[in-house]
Amino acid sequence: MSQSREIIYKCPYCQKEFEMTIYDAVNANKDLDEAERCKSGDIFKQLCPHCHKDFMVMNPFVYTDIDNKFIIFVSDEEVPESLQELSKSFDEAGYRLRRCRTIKEFTEKIQIFEDGMDDILVELAKYDSFIEYIDNRKGNAEDISSIEYQHTKDDVMKINVRCDDRGLSFLIPIAALEEVVNSQKDFFAIDNKAFPLINSDWIIQLYNDAEGLIS
Ligand SMILES: [Zn+2]
Repeated sequence: MSQSREIIYKCPYCQKEFEMTIYDAVNANKDLDEAERCKSGDIFKQLCPHCHKDFMVMNPFVYTDIDNKFIIFVSDEEVPESLQELSKSFDEAGYRLRRCRTIKEFTEKIQIFEDGMDDILVELAKYDSFIEYIDNRKGNAEDISSIEYQHTKDDVMKINVRCDDRGLSFLIPIAALEEVVNSQKDFFAIDNKAFPLINSDWIIQLYNDAEGLIS
């Protein structure tokens, strides 16, 4: 069952207060409407009844998908103890446990796991796409506005690198990504129980640290 509550919040635009519903948890297999709003990110969207502007309010939030066996904690903050305590049993039951710092990371993560994809492979594919984009002088790193997972079809992953006015797609075979990760298991090792952040910052840090060791 989903968990929600009413809070009084001050609109950041008009500074007037109003009552809004915020969610603390959604169960993807039971709360079908709420789960759809998680996938779009709209679950965090609020509309001010005074000035009619909408904005996002992100509070610590837990998304559980039992069918696809994953739990995502959405927050800037560390995972609370109440959730940490459950992590061992979920880890043993084969659940992927993750933290997402932004709504964009969260919506993408749901899609990756619903596709049955390994998010480590996805971050590697995004990183490779970024390097290829720069190396082939298709643009500068500063001009890139986002690098996004699109989908996986016929064992090929599609990644989109977007600049302000255009996008470029990269198609990367899963087998090639798996080969890299399987040949460097320690390098890509994560602590699932700790609800790790597996995002672009994570993989950039991995490669930066490795470079630091070599030079
Ligand atoms: Zn307002």
